Amino acid sequence: MEGAISHCRACGAPLGEVFCDLGIMAVANSYLPPEADPAREPRFPLRAVVCPACRMVQLDHVVDASGIFRDYAYFSSASASWQDHARRYCEAMTDRLGLGPGSLVVEVASNDGYLLKNFVAAGVPCLGVEPAANVAEVAIAAGVPTEIAFLTPETAARIVAAQGRGADLVIANNVLAHVPDINGFAEGLATLLAPEGVLTVETPHLLELVEGVQFDTIYHEHFAYWSLLAVEHLFARHGLTVFDLEHLPTHGGSLRLFASRSARPASQALLAQRRAEAERGLEGDDFYRGFNAAVAEVLAGFRDWLAERQAEGKRLAGYGAAAKGNTFLNAAGVIATDFMAVADVSPAKQGRLLPGSHVPVVSPEALLALAPDEILILPWNIAPELTAQLRGAGFTGGLWTAVPEMRRL
Ligand SMILES: [Zn+2]
Repeated sequence: MEGAISHCRACGAPLGEVFCDLGIMAVANSYLPPEADPAREPRFPLRAVVCPACRMVQLDHVVDASGIFRDYAYFSSASASWQDHARRYCEAMTDRLGLGPGSLVVEVASNDGYLLKNFVAAGVPCLGVEPAANVAEVAIAAGVPTEIAFLTPETAARIVAAQGRGADLVIANNVLAHVPDINGFAEGLATLLAPEGVLTVETPHLLELVEGVQFDTIYHEHFAYWSLLAVEHLFARHGLTVFDLEHLPTHGGSLRLFASRSARPASQALLAQRRAEAERGLEGDDFYRGFNAAVAEVLAGFRDWLAERQAEGKRLAGYGAAAKGNTFLNAAGVIATDFMAVADVSPAKQGRLLPGSHVPVVSPEALLALAPDEILILPWNIAPELTAQLRGAGFTGGLWTAVPEMRRL
C-alpha cells in the first residue's frame, strides 16, 4: 500500500483543500548509517489535505510502512514524564469507573506496558494489544499480558471470545494518527467494549496544531491529524458516542476523549469544545487554507536566524533528534554543514545521520565537547526539561526553539 490517495480514508469522499504541503521529504524516523549513499535515500511527498465531508486532515501520499519504520522501535518507558502521565491516568480511571479484580481493561498500542503495568500492580485484569513484537515482548517479560497483533474487528472479536466478555475500559492513546485502516480500527475499538464500557482516546488536537503552527508534528508515519469534529464523524459510523473530554498539555496540546456504545449525556467540557471548533470554522474550508502561509513565515524566521549566525561565524548545534526535528530541519532546507551535530540520548541514533539533512547524531556529552555557541532545541514540547539538563551540564551559550517562532530560552 504505497502511493497517492485521492479519497478520504475515513469516509471515502474525494479529498479537498491542501492543509500543509511540506514538499518531497525523507522519512522522519529513518536514520542513516554514516556509510549510506545519501543519493539513494528514499523521499516521498509530505502533504496533508482535508476531507470536505468529514473534515479529517490526512496525508494524501502513503509510504509503505514495512520497509521503512521497522528498524526503529519506540519505547514509551524511555521518558519519566510519560510514566507519570500514565500512572495518574490509571489512578483517575480506577476511581472514575470503580475498577477492581472483577474488571477488564484492554489497551490498544500498549507499547512496552508502561501504562498497563499500573493496572497489573493494582490487581485489575488487563490485556495489551501491540503489533510490534520486539516491543510487546518487553511488556510480556515485565508481566503485562500482551497480544501481538494489529487491532482489527477480527482481533477484537477473538479477544472478547477468549476473555468471555467485553472490556470495562478500552484505552487507545496516541495511536489514531498511526492507523492506516481507520475504520477497521474504530470498529475494533467498538467490538472490544462491553455494552456499558468506556473508551478513552488521546490524540494531539488539530486546533492546537494550527494555533501553535506545529507543522513539525506532520510526518509520514502520522496519517491523520484529528479535531473533535472529525473523531465524532468517525466514531458515529461505528456506533461510538463521545460524551466527555479533557484537555492535556501532551504533544503540544491533546484531547482525551471519553466514548461509549451506550448514549450518555454530553458533558459541559464536550459542549464547550464543540462550540469552540464551530466558532473557529472547522466545518468550512477557510480554517484549513491559511496554514501553509503561517508555516512559510516560521521557516523564513528560522532561515534569517541561521543566516545571521553563519555570517558571524557562530558554531551551531541541535538537540533532540526526534521526528519533529527532522520534519522541521528538512522543511527549512537545512544541510549537513549548517549544524555541527544534533545530540540525542538514544544510543540507537548516535553515530547515524539525520534523514534528509544528514547532520550527524551524537551523544549529549559529545555535543557539549564540540563547544557550540548556540543550541537549537528541536522538540519544543519538552524544551524546559532539556534546558534544565543542558544548563545542569554547564552549557552557558544561547538556547533556542524555532516553533512557532524563534525564541531565546
Ligand atoms: Zn472524510
